[in-house]
Amino acid sequence: MPATRNPRQPMPAAPAAPRTVLAGLARIGMVLRAGAWAKREAGGLTPTQAQILALLAARAPAGLRLSVLAEELAVTAQSAGESVAALVAKGLVARSADAADGRASLLHLTAAGRRAAERGAEWPDLMLAAVDDLSEAEQALFLRALMKMIRGLQQRGAIPVQRMCASCRYFRPDAHPGSAQPHHCGFVDAPFGDGALRLDCPDHEAAEPALAHEIWRAFLARDPASPQATARMPAPR
Ligand code: SF4
Repeated sequence: MPATRNPRQPMPAAPAAPRTVLAGLARIGMVLRAGAWAKREAGGLTPTQAQILALLAARAPAGLRLSVLAEELAVTAQSAGESVAALVAKGLVARSADAADGRASLLHLTAAGRRAAERGAEWPDLMLAAVDDLSEAEQALFLRALMKMIRGLQQRGAIPVQRMCASCRYFRPDAHPGSAQPHHCGFVDAPFGDGALRLDCPDHEAAEPALAHEIWRAFLARDPASPQATARMPAPR
């Protein structure tokens, strides 16, 4: 016999999906922040200093100018400069002359800075285990959804432009339809799947606006939830 509800106890209203998604992300963010805080405390770093080490590690060996660093971290040049000065004093960052501009200098990690950045890049075991619990297909879908959210935040000016595949001139989404590796990276001239999409690629080059729009349409076209399922980038020759 089917269960009946007490009419005096109405079903609770379903929470709006976007708010539920955000609440879930906030919970995950709490775990990540707690892990990052513990590591920073152990290393005696502020959040900005830890971010600078991570960014310099991602851009190694090229190095970064202070102005670019500040832009990427969305902080003022003064704030970035103070954090860099502290990292230089700790022996984690060094300056060298910029060959492209004699008046400018480039920031690099020292050997100690590289080790500190590596320690900072280690994810908490429990988070890795939680992601491992997802199937490959779920991880790929999650990554696609994250890219969409990041792009939305970029377009609203909330975060700096990320060096992700979806904004890269080398990206050819769904260039190999029907394959397990449907996308193509023109930089390395190789196919790859959703699970290998990059969020911060050192080889990224921003696509011109018209091409960026085309790439994004083609990227969305593989999303079964998207009504715009028609666009496709030409296959690489
Ligand atoms: S160069 Fe990097 S960001 Fe660009 S398509 Fe290849 S993997 Fe993606």
